Amino acid sequence: MEYPSKLIEDAVNEVSKLPGIGKKTALRLVLHLLKRDEDQTEILAQSLTAMRTRVKYCLKCHNLSDHDLCSICTSNKRDQSLICVVEDTRDVLAIENTAQFKGLYHVLGGIISPVEGIGPSDLQIDSLIARLRGPEGEQVREIILAISPTMEGDTTAFYLQKKLKAFNLRISTIARGVPIGGDLEYADEVTLGRSILSRIAYD
Ligand SMILES: [Zn+2]
Repeated sequence: MEYPSKLIEDAVNEVSKLPGIGKKTALRLVLHLLKRDEDQTEILAQSLTAMRTRVKYCLKCHNLSDHDLCSICTSNKRDQSLICVVEDTRDVLAIENTAQFKGLYHVLGGIISPVEGIGPSDLQIDSLIARLRGPEGEQVREIILAISPTMEGDTTAFYLQKKLKAFNLRISTIARGVPIGGDLEYADEVTLGRSILSRIAYD
C-alpha cells in the first residue's frame, strides 16, 4: 500500500504488529486517531507507556498488579484456605467475572509444553510449593487446578498433583466436560462459575 505520509506509514506498521490487526485495520485506527483531538492520542500513548513500565507481577500469586502484592492477595475478604491454580492472568479475570470464587490464586505463567521447550522450572511451581511451606500454607486446605483440559494442561495438572501430594490438602479440579474449549478465557461465565462450585476431586 502507498501511504501519503511516512509518519502515517510508520504508525500503521507499528499498530499492525499487534495480534489480530492487519494493515487495513491498522490504517483505520490510525485515521480514526487523526480525526480525534490530539489529547486523545497523547492519553492513549501515556497509558500504554505507563502500563508497560509500571505494571508488575504480584510477588505472591504472580497475577498482574500495580503494587508488590495484588488486590486479591491483600484483601481480607478472600478465603485464605483456597488457592486456585491457573495458567495466566486472563484465567484470573475469567474466574473473577463469575463472582463464584472467593479464594486466592496462583498464576503459573504458562503450562508444561515439551514442544515449546517449557518445563516445570519455567513456571511458578516452586513458588507455589514455597507458599504452602510458608506461614500462609497453614491456612490452606484446598488447591483447585483450573487448567485447560488439553494434553499440556493434563501434563501440568498431573505434575502439580504429584508435587502437592506431600501436603495434607484436598486437590480438586474444575469439572471436565465443561465447555471451556481449552481456554478458560472463552468459557461462558455461568458455566465456568458452576464448574468452580461443583469442582471434583483430582484423581
Ligand atoms: Zn497476588
